[in-house]
Amino acid sequence: MYQTTYHRPSSVDEAAALFAKGKEAKYLAGGHTLIPVMKQRLAAPSDVIDLGKIKELVGVEASGDTLTIKAATSHYDVTQSDAVKKAIPALVHLASLIGDPAVRHRGTIGGSIANNDPAADYPAALLALGATITTNKRAIAADDFFKGLFTTALADGEIITAVSFPVPAKAGYAKFPHPASRFALTGVFVAKTKAGDASPKPKPATSASPRPAPRKVASCG
Ligand SMILES: Cc1cc2nc3c(=O)[nH]c(=O)nc-3n(C[C@H](O)[C@H](O)[C@H](O)COP(=O)(O)OP(=O)(O)OC[C@H]3O[C@@H](n4cnc5c(N)ncnc54)[C@H](O)[C@@H]3O)c2cc1C
Repeated sequence: MYQTTYHRPSSVDEAAALFAKGKEAKYLAGGHTLIPVMKQRLAAPSDVIDLGKIKELVGVEASGDTLTIKAATSHYDVTQSDAVKKAIPALVHLASLIGDPAVRHRGTIGGSIANNDPAADYPAALLALGATITTNKRAIAADDFFKGLFTTALADGEIITAVSFPVPAKAGYAKFPHPASRFALTGVFVAKTKAGDASPKPKPATSASPRPAPRKVASCG
């Protein structure tokens, strides 16, 4: 058994300060990736910093043509949100296809995109919709965020605080789920922006599947 110290900060600043103090710290959100990885001894963090109780990281906000989902919002809460249902029902559909009820109740959008599993569902949606990832340090366009297999633009210790989506004219998601885990064997998110062909360019179809990173594959004007 190896030792780890569990922390439960109440603000993003406190979480970042704890991370900076730790020798090899890790953030914990839903724990559906981090805990199995620790159980398999593939990670042995000195400090586990739980983001799940930070109130400023939970919830959904709609303002004008932008929908913002805070990072520690669970997949289940996305499926239940009236704001998401109204603005981008395709995200409700996507979240409802993730794993099983236990995974949906614990797993979070921030954990999913920080992990950037090539078979995860959300990365394709972020790319197709032209989302912006907000962290405690900066805003990152989805196009610049997903770098490769389990790799993102996040710097060490950087915390995702929210994901903002421009509300599209239309969007849809479909996937072939793995029969056991429900992860995407392949998945495609298609979106048409309200601006149509105007700048910024319409966001194309993007796919989630076991390749190094989600990929834009076609423009749908
Ligand atoms: C059986 C099973 C089936 C699943 N099926 C699917 C599926 O069908 N589709 C799908 O998309 N996903 C699936 N998942 C993944 C799951 O939905 C979670 O999205 C995923 O486990 C990560 O989210 P989490 O909140 O559990 O993160 P955690 O496990 O807590 O953290 C994952 C990583 O992200 C980092 N992190 C977490 N939050 C932040 C943050 N705010 N800022 C910076 N770093 C952060 C952590 O340090 C860690 O490195 C499945 C998981 C399991 C166990």
